[in-house]
Amino acid sequence: MATIFTKIIRGEIPCYKIAENEMHIAFLDINPVAEGHTLVVPKKEVDYLFDLPDPLLSSTMLFAKKVALALDKALKPDRTGVVLDGREVPHAHVHLVPIYSDSQSVSLGKKIEISRERMQEIAKIVSAEVEL
Ligand code: AMP
Repeated sequence: MATIFTKIIRGEIPCYKIAENEMHIAFLDINPVAEGHTLVVPKKEVDYLFDLPDPLLSSTMLFAKKVALALDKALKPDRTGVVLDGREVPHAHVHLVPIYSDSQSVSLGKKIEISRERMQEIAKIVSAEVEL
């Protein structure tokens, strides 16, 4: 059965899209731990990130870099952190978590509430800064 991320890639379920190219997509996490929390996903459906073929792992990280720089420009965090977990959705992905203060924990533990309108606004302003 297709993963939820494959369904997003196919356009079968909606997402707050940040960027997309032939091999990758980035969209906002629906249970964010910070404003701009983004998932970077290779379109190829592989469960474990480190099972990706080397060229796809490399291109995924380079795609993540472009998205992280767009998050930095649009949302002005101190920097953007990276979390790799992957135990909930069996489709390789990288979490990009903007860090706004020294006291912010860069983990997936503490979710925050963000309105639908603000999620749409974040997707709009961040996607406008992505340089593919
Ligand atoms: P993990 O597999 O533990 O790295 O976590 C998977 C992440 O995917 C979680 O942070 C979820 O909130 C997120 N997620 C699950 N379904 C969706 C969806 N439909 N759109 C955006 N993010 C999702």
